[in-house]
Amino acid sequence: MNVEHRVTVEERGSFSTARCTCGWHAPARRSRDKSRRDGAEHSAERSGVQGREELREPEGGPV
Ligand SMILES: [Zn+2]
Repeated sequence: MNVEHRVTVEERGSFSTARCTCGWHAPARRSRDKSRRDGAEHSAERSGVQGREELREPEGGPV
């Protein structure tokens, strides 16, 4: 019963999409930041954990 929710942000041209290992994915966004937020919301909802809104910037902030 342990579905892992690992969200990655995939980039396509000028769009990015958050995808999860569970099969979920967010709509394409124009900003990576929004995609990351989509992903954060998804994993927060799914895991039922609250209060983890801070995401680490994997590659140095907004473009
Ligand atoms: Zn998921």
